[in-house]
Amino acid sequence: MSNCLFCKIIAREIPASIIYEDEDIIAFNDIHPKASIHFLVVPKLHIASMLDLTVMHSELIAKLILKAGQLAINNGLGGGYKTHINTGKNGGQEIDHLHIHIYGNKD
Ligand code: AMP
Repeated sequence: MSNCLFCKIIAREIPASIIYEDEDIIAFNDIHPKASIHFLVVPKLHIASMLDLTVMHSELIAKLILKAGQLAINNGLGGGYKTHINTGKNGGQEIDHLHIHIYGNKD
């Protein structure tokens, strides 16, 4: 989507600290980290929020969650971490492109 910040990161139109990318997923460090490690795991497909998910997205969402967990371990959070997804205006979502927050401090 042309005016979506995360779509612009995916398209390399604006910079980000990218830590992982494959054909379906990108992950990059949050620009305002809540902990020493804080990154966002994002589907490349523009899905605005969890309110827009359908059964058609099942495989992608499973892949997103599995990859989020692998990236947490690979980035020093094997001792545990926080996960959250803000959804919609009442859920505090600022960027209207679905993303999982992963954050925590190394042991
Ligand atoms: P939310 O939509 O509320 O789940 O949160 C959006 C998150 O995106 C916030 O934690 C922001 O700090 C983060 N953010 C906003 N702009 C950027 C950017 N250009 N690069 C990385 N993270 C960003």
